[in-house]
Formats: sequence, structure tokens, C-alpha cells
Amino acid sequence: MSIKKVTQHPTQNEALIFERSQTGRVGYRLPKLDVEETDLDDILPADLRRTDDLEGVPEVSEVDVIRHFTRMSTWNFSIDLGMYPLGSCTMKYNSRLNEKVARIAGFTNLHPLAPVEESQGALELIYELQEDLAEITGLSGVSLQPAAGAHGEMTGVMLIRAFLDKRDGAASKDRRVMLIPDSAHGTNPASAALAGFSVKTIKSTAEGLTDLGHLQQLCDEGGVAGLMLTNPNTVGIFEKNIKEICEIIHKAGGLVYMDGANMNALVGVARPGDMGVDVIHLNLHKTFSTPHGGGGPGSGPCCCTAELEPFLPTPRVVKEGETFKLDFNRPESIGRVKAFYGNFGMFIRALSYIYTHGASGLREATETAVLNARYVGELLKEDFDKPFESDSMHEVIFSHKKQSRKGVHTLDIAKRLIDYGFHPMTIYFPLIVEGAMLIEPTESVGRADLDAFVEAMRDINKEAQENPQLVIDAPHSTRIGRLDEATAARKPVLRWKPETEATAKSA
Ligand SMILES: *Cc1c(COP(=O)(O)O)cnc(C)c1O
Repeated sequence: MSIKKVTQHPTQNEALIFERSQTGRVGYRLPKLDVEETDLDDILPADLRRTDDLEGVPEVSEVDVIRHFTRMSTWNFSIDLGMYPLGSCTMKYNSRLNEKVARIAGFTNLHPLAPVEESQGALELIYELQEDLAEITGLSGVSLQPAAGAHGEMTGVMLIRAFLDKRDGAASKDRRVMLIPDSAHGTNPASAALAGFSVKTIKSTAEGLTDLGHLQQLCDEGGVAGLMLTNPNTVGIFEKNIKEICEIIHKAGGLVYMDGANMNALVGVARPGDMGVDVIHLNLHKTFSTPHGGGGPGSGPCCCTAELEPFLPTPRVVKEGETFKLDFNRPESIGRVKAFYGNFGMFIRALSYIYTHGASGLREATETAVLNARYVGELLKEDFDKPFESDSMHEVIFSHKKQSRKGVHTLDIAKRLIDYGFHPMTIYFPLIVEGAMLIEPTESVGRADLDAFVEAMRDINKEAQENPQLVIDAPHSTRIGRLDEATAARKPVLRWKPETEATAKSA
């Protein structure tokens, strides 16, 4: 049996910077004063100055500071460190070229309030990205304002509501039901509720698809404003009945919202607009390679049909002749959803990604992402329970069924993966699979890394069968083992207090 021996690395034992402090130690030395000293009273009135000693500020040398922060930086797993197979999050490589382009001085020094005549390049960039996203989604109306996926969802369902209000007048208030599959991301019902809809849940079939019978039944109950559907859905399966689903909703007088967080399975291959979808959001920070999480702000463009275009947020970036303009004259608009024009730096990176790949390159990225997920799915299906038969798209789902008999659960498997040098996959999502493990390698991973990941997962299964406690106690290689994550999130300790005699005694 292969049990990886893991030892504690010295960088994992880093103390707080306060605990490194030694009285009198400094990281700098000022040159001797060669001008006359100014009376402090001439600069800052006495009542604005502190009188006590600056107590508790760490006294450390320059090298102490550098090593302290560098060591701590190694505690984070990042996309630049290794495979990050977090399903539904599309943790693909963030190209350095994107960063270089985003740092072009003409972009970084541009003030958002600069006059339109002096911002033509930036407006052209926004316009170009809008056009490209319209082409990719098959939906002609695009707003880049939303700052994240969930924000794009809210914008999208607000468009649906504005459309229904205009179409149905006072009767629109009887149409306030949003249908959402039981496999949906939690942001979907939240966005629907924020926009004033109530939510009814659609069941999934044993194959992991939307239950058409149940969908029809819910539509027959009336009051349906629309459907929010993720495609491929959150178990990584393409909703092959998407055209029929759209027809059912449209016949019932509703509109179809597609959660586009999984567009990495479709870009360059299939277009939601061609399937009958009315509105979609994209996650530039997933599908279009802009930094995710700690790396930068998100961006969740909202794309819609021409019919819904009048309701898009104001202002719109439009082209008149060879000139780019901001169109504020939009009486039917839902209004602004973000200060200025959205997270502009992300637009630069996303457009850089699109231009770098070109149409054929985007398609190739999609195909590789799907191939990689299917490869992992195929190689792990003996060791792990694969709840759905059909081929996955860009992510593949497993459950802990074969390991839980030994008392090893999804959380344990995820924690043990850390010891093998991988970021864990998404766990316990979606809720319709008990002990779900959702694996999304993305196209950024080569064959060797995929094989190493598969080998690690197979080793962990072997450990689970032969020595379950080893997995249950994982991780063994990190500074801290199992965190009480709920308490850490709800009662974070964010302030260091110097140890007094009283606290020292009670400790
Ligand atoms: C990531 C994700 C979202 C939300 O996107 P954010 O940018 O995190 O707000 C919504 N739906 C699905 C399916 C997702 O994976």
C-alpha cells in the first residue's frame, strides 16, 4: 500500500509577526538630519497628536518581514501552483499575456470620467468585447456592467421582469413564478427572489436531466415568468432536450434564462441563442480566463435577445459611424447595475484571451476541456461511484458511495488530496448527488498532470479501503489539520491582542 510519508516543513510553522517582534529591532535606518528640525507644533496641532508610545507594533528587521510574508504566501494554493479541479468554477490558467495587455498605460491611466472623445479606445474595446460575446452566445444584446455571475443573473431576471411588465401590463403581477431545477447553483433562486419572483423547483431525472413531465406540470399550474437553467447542468451533463424545454416555457408565456457559468463546455461549438435561450450571463472569470477569487474582481456580462435589448442597463456602449458613444437615452432600461461601466480591467483580459485564441482556438479549448473531463471520468469510474451513465461535458461528477462503507466520506477524500499536492475538487455540490465530488480539470491541464491526479485519486481509494483512518485524519502535510470551518467563517478572529498577565493565566 502506498502511504505517502509527509513531514512538517519549517515554513509551515510561521508565527504571527507580533510574536517575531523584538524590542528595538528595526528594518530601516534614517540618515542623519542635515536640515533644521521643524517644530512639530507648526505642522500638526498638539491635540491631534497621540501622546502614548506606539505599543504593540511589531519590531522586526527587513528580512523578518520578507520571510514572514513569503512563507505565508506559500500556504495558499493557487492556479499558478498546480491543478485546481474545482468543478463549476473553471479554474483555468490566467495567461500572463492578458496581464501585460491590461497594464498598457493608456488603459491603466484612463479615468472613468474622462470625456467620450478622449476614451475612444476604451469604448472600442468594450464594444468589441460586446460584439464577440454576442457572436459566441448567439444573443445580440450585451451589457458588461454586472460585476460577477450572480450579479449577471440578477440583471438577467430583472430584464425578464421588465419585459413581462411591458408585455402584460397590470396582469404581469400574476406571473411571478421562476422555475429552477433542483441541481441549480444557490445563486439562481437567490437572484430570482431578489428580483421579486417566487421559486418552484423542478425535479431531475435518474439520468441527471430536467424532468420534462414535471416541467410541463409546473407550467400548467400557471403564473410562470420563466426558467433558470444551467447548461451543461451542474452534474456536467448537456441538457439534450434544451430546445423542447425552451418551447415548453415559451408556450407557457415565460422566458428562458440560462446560467452560463458552464460555457467552457460550449464556446465555439454551440450557441445558447440558437437553442431558444432568451438571456444568459457569462463569467469572464471562469470561461474567459480572467483571474478568479483572490486574483481580481469578477465580471458577469449579461447577453439577451434583441427583444430584451431595450431593457439592458444604462448606459450602453454603441457605435455611430466610426465613433463610439455612451447611450443614456434608454427609457425602458432597468437602470444602472454598477458604477461606471463594469470591471474594465477584466474586459481587457477577456478580449486578450479571445484574440489570442481566435475562433478556432476557442473551439479547441472547449473540446480539450471536455476531453480532459471525460478522460478523468473514464479512468476513475472503477474506483469511484459515477452516478450518471452519460458522457460528461467539461466536468465530471462522482460520489463517495464506494468509500463511505469504510467510513470515508467526500470531505475526507478532498482533504487527503491536499497531501497529494492537488487542490480539492468541488464537494457536496450539487445537492442532488449525495457526497458529490465535482471535478473540472479545464483545458489548461496536460496529460501528465491528469494522470498524476488520477493516480492520486486511485491511491486515496486504496487507502480508504485498506487504512481508512489515514484518510479520515487527513490532511497530514498542512500547518493545520481539520479546521472548524463554520466557526472560522462565523466568528473569525481578526484582531491580535498582546498577551496580558490575565490572558496568560487563563490560557
Ligand atoms: C460560479 C457560478 C455562479 C455564480 O458566479 P459568481 O461569479 O461566483 O457570482 C452561478 N452559477 C453557477 C452554475 C456557477 O458555477
